[in-house]
Amino acid sequence: MGQIIKKRTDYISWDEYFMGVAKLASLRSKDPNSQVGACIVDADNKILSMGYNGFPRGCSDDEFPWAREGDTLETKYAYVTHSELNAILNYRGGSLENCKIYVTLFPCNECAKAIIQSGIKTVVFAENKYDGTPSVEASKKLMNAAGVRYYQYQPTGKKLEINV
Ligand SMILES: [Zn+2]
Repeated sequence: MGQIIKKRTDYISWDEYFMGVAKLASLRSKDPNSQVGACIVDADNKILSMGYNGFPRGCSDDEFPWAREGDTLETKYAYVTHSELNAILNYRGGSLENCKIYVTLFPCNECAKAIIQSGIKTVVFAENKYDGTPSVEASKKLMNAAGVRYYQYQPTGKKLEINV
């Protein structure tokens, strides 16, 4: 009689996996103040794209400004592409219709527009530290009107360690 080998039970859930990937992507950000990551998943739980906040391709991380205050042209806000938009634009495989996006921070109104227009139908966010600001309020208004569902990721407290 062969011994019955049972599957592992401590594997990570889909939600832990995708939010974990979004967090991993955020570690690529060069922004000294804000690191955000995003991961787009289809209905079959396949990862289609990832992104993090940074300057557009060809725009040097060492030459463009990371400042948050001052003349508009001297701040990052004029130049940085957010993680959600990067994840959407990074995907060249076709449609993102009915996909889900995992993002480490609630999407701003500009990203909400891109999420809606790309066909993504669900947003799973981790932090929401700008809740109540005009940007987040506008984002909610847009997503509510467009039928994009959003809910907060519930941390499981599991600590994942990866040696690289
Ligand atoms: Zn944004």
